[in-house]
Amino acid sequence: MAHYDLIVIGAGSGGVRAARVAAAHGAKVAIAEEHRVGGTCVIRGCVPKKLLVYGAHFAEDLNDAAMFGWDVPQTSFNWPVLRDNMLAEVGRLEGLYEQTMANHDVTIFHERAELVGPNEIRLASGSSHTARIICVATGASPLMPEIPGVEHAISSNEVFHLNELPKRIVIAGGGYIANEFAGIFHQFGAHVTIVNRSDAILRGYDEQLRDRLLQISLAKGIDFKFNSTFNAIERQEDGSLKIDMHGCDDISADQVLFASGRRPNVAGLGLDAAGVVLGDNGEIKVDADNRTNVASIYAIGDVTDRVQLTPVAIREGQAFADSVFGGKPTRVDYNCIPSAVFSHPPLAGVGMTESEARNKLGSVRIYTSDFRPMKNVLAGRNERSLYKLVVDETTDEVVGVHMIGPDAPELLQVAAIAVKAKLKKADFDATVALHPSMAEELVLMR
Ligand code: NDP
Repeated sequence: MAHYDLIVIGAGSGGVRAARVAAAHGAKVAIAEEHRVGGTCVIRGCVPKKLLVYGAHFAEDLNDAAMFGWDVPQTSFNWPVLRDNMLAEVGRLEGLYEQTMANHDVTIFHERAELVGPNEIRLASGSSHTARIICVATGASPLMPEIPGVEHAISSNEVFHLNELPKRIVIAGGGYIANEFAGIFHQFGAHVTIVNRSDAILRGYDEQLRDRLLQISLAKGIDFKFNSTFNAIERQEDGSLKIDMHGCDDISADQVLFASGRRPNVAGLGLDAAGVVLGDNGEIKVDADNRTNVASIYAIGDVTDRVQLTPVAIREGQAFADSVFGGKPTRVDYNCIPSAVFSHPPLAGVGMTESEARNKLGSVRIYTSDFRPMKNVLAGRNERSLYKLVVDETTDEVVGVHMIGPDAPELLQVAAIAVKAKLKKADFDATVALHPSMAEELVLMR
């Protein structure tokens, strides 16, 4: 048995940051990880997904190239090449994360850890270790429905490892993962059907942008089945899947991907043994300092089910380590968190949506720019972008920026600075346009 200042359970984005910063503050740190160092974001989330988004986008670029004078001979797509290159990059990043831990003298236990008390963990191999502080950063896992035949379906964990691309894929859910993978599989040539339990996609995003994505997705040929749920999935003799549906006709497909939210990873963690209280969704309840009801146990990231985004988990890990080991009490500011959906085209937003602002502020001014990007015009691509500013009528403050169109997430990150800094519409107006760009629309809306 060894004693540490800090043991972190879970080496994802939040856990690795907490461990590294605590170690940099002089703490003796260990981190336990049962899968691969890097967690959801690096191993089976943001990073490999973004690489697939890049890969998928070539389908449109190669198509559009002809109008720009390029003679593109017959093209074909080789999934194993992209898959293996993407997985190799993930492996490279995993190595860098491990290196960072080693550089900071953080001990890595490559095995599952469970709490056995407020200051003690037990590893799968049987050894126990104690710590003054334990930080739980075990993340979340895809929620799979309890229906007959669910074993024939995959989640976002498996989607990166497919042996071959499906010709027809059904994606359950209308959120981030569903819309991102709908775009990816569509560009790779699959027929995509999104099945959602309600009649709205991307709840939480501005309604006008969600409508625009829906229109563009439908025009591309992606099918949507709303107000529909799954009864059962059955493997047919020819290897295909027959999906027994409720709310729409049954569907035949080659693959079913469930993307209907994620559940905090708390099962079998020994939280009850340690006396840690959970919330209604099974999340670890913490205060503004990431502390659970047990004084020596903290929790950060998706396992706390606050905002399930990597940069937020990283900030929580940083704030925890600075506060507890750096003598620098810090709290995460959850206001104005920008977010993006890497759909085709992507959409992104920060601050209040129009309806939120109308509810909260009463009097608002809305500015929109609905335009066809120059590149789309020449390419003959009939896809329009939509940018939207939500402005507080009383103060002239820009309280929300929402964008759908090429590179929207790249532009939104910069616009988020303006919203965070509480800049006014007059500041946007006073900024000279950078021409020709799509971003200039942000300062030209009148
Ligand atoms: P989301 O929360 O984005 O969407 C879940 C979808 O599934 C919604 O359409 C929801 O419907 C539906 N749903 C929820 N519960 C059920 C259920 N029991 N049965 C049927 N449908 C259900 O989850 P994702 O799985 O797409 O992604 C998980 C999280 O990961 C996201 O919330 C996000 O925080 C993060 N993420 C972020 C990304 C990014 O930043 N680009 C990319 C991918 C993931 P309803 O609207 O009716 O609730």
